[in-house]
Amino acid sequence: MQEVKLVYPLLEQAKKIIITTHQKPDGDAMGAALGLYHFLTQLGHETTVISPTNWAKFLDWMPGSQTVIDFEAEKEKANLLINAADILFCLDFNVLHRTKNMEAALTGASCIKVLIDHHQQPQEEAFDYGISNVNKSSTCEMVFDFIDASTHKHLLNKDIATCLFTGIMTDTGSFRFSSTTPHVHRVIAALKETGIDHTLIFENIYDNFSENRLRFIGNALLNRLEVLYEYNTALMAIPKKDLVKYDIKTGDTEGLVNYLLTIEGIKLGALVIDRTEERKWSFRSKGDFDVNLFARTHFEGGGHKNAAGGRSSLTIEENINQFKTVIHEYEQQL
Ligand code: 5GP
Ligand code: MN
Repeated sequence: MQEVKLVYPLLEQAKKIIITTHQKPDGDAMGAALGLYHFLTQLGHETTVISPTNWAKFLDWMPGSQTVIDFEAEKEKANLLINAADILFCLDFNVLHRTKNMEAALTGASCIKVLIDHHQQPQEEAFDYGISNVNKSSTCEMVFDFIDASTHKHLLNKDIATCLFTGIMTDTGSFRFSSTTPHVHRVIAALKETGIDHTLIFENIYDNFSENRLRFIGNALLNRLEVLYEYNTALMAIPKKDLVKYDIKTGDTEGLVNYLLTIEGIKLGALVIDRTEERKWSFRSKGDFDVNLFARTHFEGGGHKNAAGGRSSLTIEENINQFKTVIHEYEQQL
């Protein structure tokens, strides 16, 4: 993978460009994709964002979101676009299998592939150019840096800024996590200069849910939470029947895992959800406990030191038992 700055000369002439992100894109993935989309479109490129799957309704207000193609819903159209592309930007993921059903199409594509990402252990051999930096708060911060270091930084406008603000806000837990460096605040200042309405962005993301979702969270906190004090760990397991009862949609479970770390003294929060296709884990930690390593070792996953995810095809009960067994090994660290 060569340096990302070598991509600038390739953008001097109009190109067909595809931007993609990980499956079930979150605020950072969608913000980075759409922020870059608005920039490249202004530069005169024929640009399309393709998401591997659908995404949360609370991201639908973002400028440009109506143009995003859902790969699973429009496979034929998406494959034609991927095959015709000159350049493919892969944002906010480190390995191609994070694009789920799109992996084969991306691996097979003969175009130039560019990675911009902040996850650990990137699959460098899969990309021609790129930048991977785990010290970055978000991929949105990195897209800002990419625009800012170009000769076209004057193209930064309110639409780009709105998208990039969203991803930095969501990936830093509203500017709270240790990844929120002085540089992040300078980026936010530059984004604010474009005239974005940050209060509205907060409302669009955090005050945009259904009554059902709030009741689902209430039920989860009351009935699905187990605190393992001897390990400073909180475990929450959501059975499929809860997802059905409260009509839970993509994105409705986002943020749920964060409640676990709000209990005094808890260093590890683990959430497992019984999805139709698999059991999906989310891990969050405080301090030195490395959930990226934990997820990689035990649950086919990965992510960051303090926020990671994983998966399993075993039943939810088997997953709970597995978790409670392996957690013994970490008693000293927790
Ligand atoms: P979340 O718990 O919010 O789904 O994910 C937390 C972090 O872990 C994100 O940075 C996400 O990219 C990463 N992550 C989530 N699930 C997986 C997974 O199955 N595999 C890998 N490698 N990373 C994951
Ligand atoms: Mn991210």
